[in-house]
Amino acid sequence: MSNRRQFVLKSLIGALGLSSSAFSCESTPEADSDNKREFKGPVILTTWNHQETNAIALNVLKENGSVLDAVESAIRKVEADPNDSSVGYGGRPDREGVVSLDACIMNKAGEAGSVCFVRDIMHPITVARMVMEKTPHVILAGQGAKQFALENGMKARNLLTDASINSYKEWLKKSEYKTIINIENHDTIGLLAIDESQDMAGGCSTSGMAYKYHGRVGDSPIIGAGLYVDNEIGSATATGVGEMVLRTLGSFLVVELMRGGLDPYQACKEAVHRIVNKYDCKDTQVGYVALNKYGEAGAYSIHPGFIYTCSTPHKNEVLKSESYFK
Ligand code: ASP
Repeated sequence: MSNRRQFVLKSLIGALGLSSSAFSCESTPEADSDNKREFKGPVILTTWNHQETNAIALNVLKENGSVLDAVESAIRKVEADPNDSSVGYGGRPDREGVVSLDACIMNKAGEAGSVCFVRDIMHPITVARMVMEKTPHVILAGQGAKQFALENGMKARNLLTDASINSYKEWLKKSEYKTIINIENHDTIGLLAIDESQDMAGGCSTSGMAYKYHGRVGDSPIIGAGLYVDNEIGSATATGVGEMVLRTLGSFLVVELMRGGLDPYQACKEAVHRIVNKYDCKDTQVGYVALNKYGEAGAYSIHPGFIYTCSTPHKNEVLKSESYFK
């Protein structure tokens, strides 16, 4: 086991038990006597604190659901949560008070589906999956995406909650658009999954930046920006200021860096460096998480404060990402 590498979770922090780590969970990179890495079973990796969400995904796998079902079911739970102010129902509206949602999904075959600027539909991740599975297209936008959802049995509903209306009214008093690092306007759920057979899928869903321009589309529904899955190599997803991720095609970049030999942590770090080397990121947060074919996980962000959740059948941990700025 000369190449055996061990990555140990470091520094338990605070009541949440946050830890800082280049790699996470038990699916750490190891090699057997043939220098082949050992795959240790399913892993679910999400942006931010999503222990319950990951448990749902693992349960789907346990019940012999597909890795794609695991991704969709877990993200649906977040979309339906009125207390999550950045995804689905209860997501913060744009500057005109309208909630518009972005989501995408990719399967193990590299097929993709996406919806952007979709209104009045609680589960854009399911619409994205239907775009992938029932149409010859990858992206449906706006009214067309809504019409497609309704034609396929989904119900229209108001996505505003009392809390989101109140915070919008508060925002209207000054009507300032300003990105704030790590608060709830940066809370895309990005979820990457690998199952027992080492097949991967991923998805992400968001209401986008709070109080964005009406019509704005972020990185999350753009394949290669907010999410990318290559079943032979690995997968990546992003959260934070989508414009930075779009400009650098971040998730595709992370996967390509893994293809070139970097581990998930190094790949996320390099993708963050590509952003900070070119743009002023003083007030801009971006966080990446990545999972490779061996179930090894990694993350990196521009600023401190980005956390992510890595779960296996044996562990369900919220971890603190390392960051460019300390
Ligand atoms: N990346 C998302 C977007 O720009 C927002 C977020 O992650 O908070 O729409």
